[in-house]
Amino acid sequence: MRRATPKGPSVLAQKLLKRLPRRQQDLVKTATILGERQGVAVYLVGGPVRDLALGSASTDLDLTVAGDALAYAKALAAQLGARVTIHRKFGTATLVLQDGLRLDVATARRESYAHPAALPDVSPGTIGEDLFRRDFTINAMAVRLGPQGGKLLDPSGGLKDLERGLLRALHEGSYRDDPTRIFRGARYAARYRLRFSRRDRRLIRSVLAEKVLKRLSKDRLFHELKLVLGEPKPEAVLLILRKLGVLSSLDPALEPGPSTNAQMRRIRRAWERYNHLGIPPEPRLWRLYLLVLLLSVTPRIRHRVGGHLGMKGPPLDVLVMELKELPRLQEKLNQKQLRASRLRQLLDPASGELRLLVWAIGGGRVRKRVDRYLTRLASVRPALTGQDLKRLGFPPGPTYRRILDLLLEGRLEGRLRSRDDEINLVQQRFGRRYRM
Ligand code: ATP
Repeated sequence: MRRATPKGPSVLAQKLLKRLPRRQQDLVKTATILGERQGVAVYLVGGPVRDLALGSASTDLDLTVAGDALAYAKALAAQLGARVTIHRKFGTATLVLQDGLRLDVATARRESYAHPAALPDVSPGTIGEDLFRRDFTINAMAVRLGPQGGKLLDPSGGLKDLERGLLRALHEGSYRDDPTRIFRGARYAARYRLRFSRRDRRLIRSVLAEKVLKRLSKDRLFHELKLVLGEPKPEAVLLILRKLGVLSSLDPALEPGPSTNAQMRRIRRAWERYNHLGIPPEPRLWRLYLLVLLLSVTPRIRHRVGGHLGMKGPPLDVLVMELKELPRLQEKLNQKQLRASRLRQLLDPASGELRLLVWAIGGGRVRKRVDRYLTRLASVRPALTGQDLKRLGFPPGPTYRRILDLLLEGRLEGRLRSRDDEINLVQQRFGRRYRM
């Protein structure tokens, strides 16, 4: 992490903006000039400023406008040739540039909470109020864009907290207002190697003791868990959440066991190794981690945890079924002899996640077979299609499936090597029946 030296807000802003990649610097320049021309104050806020202070640059930019943000966003989009989506209800707009870069523009706003864990009531506000509604001091910094390179606004001491490695909410009621901030904080703590301040740990303990998490809607809770599981190292986030007592108050079964860390690392390795092959259905990493977490508990507890997370119906049933299926699949993949066509039969119906999970927990032989399936066998197809069979004079019907399965088997076992081989086989085996 780069250490910021105590300097004036304009010097600091200049230093931060200079760390942006060239492309983003140009965008910021355009955004600045437009703000000047429209007479509105424009700020680079939140994550991008935090990341610049940490010495890394987020690719996407977040701008906040004290004034008519939507008119500003439309004009900016026109100037940049970007696609713009307006969310009038929230006073926000998203610009997507031709090269895919995203730029979010929001109206500066203030927020209040009718009761703990409620969604906030939102109204337009000043930049000071906008920064104060945020989760942590490290996210409550902004750079006012201006012709002289801008000015850093850091009313809560975010830079200093970054230097000290501290996570601090902006006020004592913050976690009670919005308990999802506990999960957000744990993600930042793991990602940037920060720790909650002593005061914050105390605040979190008291919010947990008041059972405020239970007041969060299950959808929001599940969304937070997915974000946790979408982090580069979710096991580190889970450890922090465990230490804070969050997992035990959600459901003790979510607490990582002695082998969870190693399993999560292995499943990540599997995903990194195979995901780029693009074999459908593509596995989702968060779902893989969730399967790992529920690996060693009973089906009854799997249902209970799913219920706590608001999962129900088919998504939960499929998850529980996959975990039940796992040992059987592992055993079948471990048989001494296994033909290629049998390997396809076993793994074709499995979800993308189940294939990787069995790779991650299986022994050497299982791993080799899943590897063979994913890298070679899964994409094998017969050269002939249903259309070809029609052209060859076969009347469409259920026999097509049988013929194509036979061709696939021949291909997998290496008996068929060309289109002509396939045509010969089809005519020998089925031609007479259709008098071809
Ligand atoms: P990243 O996307 O890298 O996780 P980010 O800081 O950009 O980090 P977002 O979830 O995109 O995170 O949120 C953007 C900003 O909005 C944050 O920096 C934070 O200031 C604010 N924010 C988001 N969620 C909350 C929340 N629940 N309470 C308060 N502020 C929030």
